[in-house]
Amino acid sequence: MAKLLTGAPVVTALGGELSKRVERLKAAGIVPTLAIVRIGERPADLSYERGASKRCAAIGIEVKHIFLKPDYRPEELMAVVQEINGDPGIHGCLMFRPLARREDELAVCAALKPEKDMDGITAWSQGNVLSGEEGGFAPCTAQACLEILDYYGYSLKSSRVTVIGASMVIGKPVGIMLLNRCATLTMCHIDTVDTASHCRGAEILISAAGCAGLVSKDYVSPGQVVLDVGINTNPEGKLCGDVRFDEVEPIVEAITPVPGGVGTVTSTVLAKHVVEAAERMCRK
Ligand code: NAD
Repeated sequence: MAKLLTGAPVVTALGGELSKRVERLKAAGIVPTLAIVRIGERPADLSYERGASKRCAAIGIEVKHIFLKPDYRPEELMAVVQEINGDPGIHGCLMFRPLARREDELAVCAALKPEKDMDGITAWSQGNVLSGEEGGFAPCTAQACLEILDYYGYSLKSSRVTVIGASMVIGKPVGIMLLNRCATLTMCHIDTVDTASHCRGAEILISAAGCAGLVSKDYVSPGQVVLDVGINTNPEGKLCGDVRFDEVEPIVEAITPVPGGVGTVTSTVLAKHVVEAAERMCRK
């Protein structure tokens, strides 16, 4: 039976350390504060907002909720970004995406102050993820994968890691972050030929394809550590990952569940970024 890499103990460990850092900030008169900007009522956004607000409250972080209607005007959206940029009491911003128009996405990514960019959407954060320099923030889900591997003690140096998925939100940043930790990286995407063979040879397999049931027993081999980032719905309407858990779990060494794995850690990483942003502002 594979070891179950649940997110809960990672959250507890990170949360304990963050609460102490928040206490220190509060003693210095700073209340770390996150602005969440949501457009419309997409169920996935609502669910993440609820979870993130609960996590932040548990750690002592304040959350400001900003809501725009789906038919917002671009000027309204930019006014929100400028308000966040200009408010010294707001340390970080999470904006739910995708936005209605590609131009709005580009405008927000260009306008948001990089030091308030909690989810790695600005060019400055992305550049720092790429170079491995300090400063900026990685996308929360990508970092959640590394937090899980670190917490459970898996060494990344020289490890063969395969990532399925090459989006800017998860696949690419997690791949680069693993490379920066001296892993040997293989990236697979929709046009990769024989993805299964690239996966079988890996010691660590991270699936972030958003494709229910993609990772079957043919993708894995004994001794592997499997992180399932996917959050999908199966044909029966049930929440599931990319990995066919029942087939894969008996073969591999360790695996994250869905739900209760990577997704559980993501909102705590968001909280960690807010605390870090508040500390950085404090040091200025
Ligand atoms: P995306 O659609 O932007 O990107 C998917 C990537 O996977 C693309 O690079 C695509 O080429 C690749 N891909 C798709 N099907 C593939 C296949 N059959 N074989 C190989 N590669 C394939 O999606 P995303 O935003 O990166 O999200 C990926 C998944 O992660 C989704 O299920 C999403 O819901 C989930 N997600 C989880 C969290 C979390 O906290 N756990 C957070 C955000 C997103």
